[in-house]
Amino acid sequence: MNGLSTLLERASARRHALSRDELVALLGLAAPGEIAALRAAAYAVKVRHSGRLVSLRGIIEMGNVCAKDCYYCGIRKGNDCVGRFELDEEAVLRAVRRNIDLRYGSLVLQSGEIASEKHTAFIERILRKIDELGGGAIGVTLSLGEQSEETYARWRAAGAHRYLLRIETSSPELYAKLHPADHSFERRVDCLRLLRKCGYQVGSGVMSGLPGQTLDDLAGDILFFRDLDLDMIGMGPYIPHHDTPLGRDIPFTPDYAADHLRLGLNMIAATRLFLHDVNIASTTALQALADDGREQGVLAGANVIMPNITDTEYRRSYQLYENKPCLDENAEQCRFCLERRLAAIGETINWGARGDSPHYAARLGE
Ligand code: SAH
Ligand code: SF4
Repeated sequence: MNGLSTLLERASARRHALSRDELVALLGLAAPGEIAALRAAAYAVKVRHSGRLVSLRGIIEMGNVCAKDCYYCGIRKGNDCVGRFELDEEAVLRAVRRNIDLRYGSLVLQSGEIASEKHTAFIERILRKIDELGGGAIGVTLSLGEQSEETYARWRAAGAHRYLLRIETSSPELYAKLHPADHSFERRVDCLRLLRKCGYQVGSGVMSGLPGQTLDDLAGDILFFRDLDLDMIGMGPYIPHHDTPLGRDIPFTPDYAADHLRLGLNMIAATRLFLHDVNIASTTALQALADDGREQGVLAGANVIMPNITDTEYRRSYQLYENKPCLDENAEQCRFCLERRLAAIGETINWGARGDSPHYAARLGE
């Protein structure tokens, strides 16, 4: 690509400095030398904002019961092949204590989408217990789907700091192809606004490499992140699941893995170069495509990793996509493995720190 180094210099010097077409050009890079330059520039911006440090959040997969039917997801309501589970309070708190012992500093509670007073109150109780167990020092992220403003406000008051709700794609047309008619794009965007209003650090993101998705759609996603002034980005490659309408006929081949890994990493790098000071997660889906996918994500500009701390017995029932890694390694094994892997790329774990988004601090200070 002509002028790549000038473009990367401009993007590194100032956030929001790229046009939509320039984002498309970066996302489409495929030559090894050009990809290396893109990743190196994005990594330098990451180091400028968060050092050679990676912040961890232990993720607790609380249950796979879901009211929704997203066409891509392995735990969608319509998938009869999956046995359903919900962790009880004691099992969740066991994982919370594990997170504290492992000194991960933050945790994420994630599950399928459930909207009921019983569930809202259950989460509230868990949040209060986490606050007690961690002496108020643990960063708590929720990833529990679309809820009412009242529910978001109650969970925030009970101690949650951050919320992750991926928009999945910022193109309403593509969104409509990936979801049944009663799943509303506008409602999802409204939820992101409500979360901001309720005082959360707000995170969103998309899947890359979806059938029918173009590079221009992905560039639009990055502009959407800017327009919503997000604090955190969680993106990952789309990985087919064979018990879903979208993934049924997509073969998961080595070429699929290589292409989708490259695109996922380009997306992280372009997002880092455009937004600069947000937290960006290097997600497990990258690791499903390559053993060292998460480390590659960090070297492309991500600064957060979310190791699984759910009891291993439940992990097989929480497969949003196939080929999910680390189904059998327990949390302690994952901790050592991750520490070793990150040390090998010259990164250190930000032990015990909440690792809040620098962008959130900046926008509160404005
Ligand atoms: N139910 C909540 C949280 C759990 S799903 C919600 O939907 O917000 C978490 C994320 O998993 C989704 O946002 C989606 O982006 C991702 N996901 C689902 N199926 C996937 C697949 N086949 N490949 C990659 N990511 C997937
Ligand atoms: Fe449910 Fe989330 Fe999967 Fe959609 S992506 S079916 S909301 S768990």
